[in-house]
Amino acid sequence: MLLEVKDLRMYYEVGDGVFVKAVDGVSFNLDREEALGIVGESGCGKSSLAITILRILPSNARVLGGEVLLDGVDILRLDEHRLRKEVRWRKISMVFQGSMNALNPIIKVGDQIAEAIMLHEKVSKKDAYRRAEELLSLVGIDPSRVSSYPFELSGGQRQRVMIAMALALNPKVLIADEPTTALDVIVQAQTLKLIKELQSRLKLSLMLISHDISVVAEMSDKVAVMYAGKIVEYGPAVEVLLQPKHPYTTALLKSVPSIRESKRKLAYIPGVPPNLVNPPSGCRFHPRCPYAMDICREKEPNLKEVGEHHLAACHLYR
Ligand code: ATP
Ligand code: SF4
Repeated sequence: MLLEVKDLRMYYEVGDGVFVKAVDGVSFNLDREEALGIVGESGCGKSSLAITILRILPSNARVLGGEVLLDGVDILRLDEHRLRKEVRWRKISMVFQGSMNALNPIIKVGDQIAEAIMLHEKVSKKDAYRRAEELLSLVGIDPSRVSSYPFELSGGQRQRVMIAMALALNPKVLIADEPTTALDVIVQAQTLKLIKELQSRLKLSLMLISHDISVVAEMSDKVAVMYAGKIVEYGPAVEVLLQPKHPYTTALLKSVPSIRESKRKLAYIPGVPPNLVNPPSGCRFHPRCPYAMDICREKEPNLKEVGEHHLAACHLYR
């Protein structure tokens, strides 16, 4: 197994002894060349999970437990120097939500990519530029665009530049956090196709984060559904998406249109995701769940086998 995340817990401290339980006991595996989709509504902890793995955390974040094993080495226990030298961007890299807007508008694209390369590797300026050109062509942009300014590129091209930068040090794992948010539908589809092609060409393991279950369905071998800081369903994508077991996954699936059932009314999930400072007792989904029973308010359900390699955390499966 390339990446094993075990019982990871990261809370944000927002006051004296007050914590937002953003990542609360999350476990999953990512194999070589595998694509794992992480899906859930806004605020359920997806980005927090990603930045905890890479340890690029804000100052109020507290990693309170768990392990992140990369090739068997717990990267949570590495000191910052080793993490920077051996892991971050080199082995695990990330494309951030809305990252295309992070390009400096007044510095040429080639300069920005070359600078990022030179920051991490001892290479000449000339070699860094050559690599920048290679990276641009890898993501389908004409290498001559090294001399363009970001404002001369479309949104889709800028996002490709960010993907190129994330791949600059040949990582094994790419985390893509909502990589197509803010792009129009056609460009979104092209960008996802590019990520899928790069994953197979570069033999990458991919962790794709999205609130959109249809994006995750198209791209993933495995799916983890997150709700309120926890994984509530996890397994092979075909199992989770075609035979969902957790009422939250079912609700997410019912909220996307299907071309096969043109007349189906789109469902929405009543209520809002809970406040993670004081999440609901027992099953965190119980205030919104149509099947909630007494036990759901009292006892937290653990992830249990509900099919082959398929887990769900729900008292309906006792
Ligand atoms: P989105 O896609 O909207 O970013 P998400 O599923 O990625 O949603 P996170 O951004 O990880 O969710 O947020 C999880 C919870 O942590 C939310 O309640 C959010 O408000 C909270 N949160 C995020 N960053 C901080 C912070 N620096 N301090 C306190 N709370 C935070
Ligand atoms: Fe619904 Fe209970 Fe299952 Fe939670 S444990 S999803 S409240 S049935």
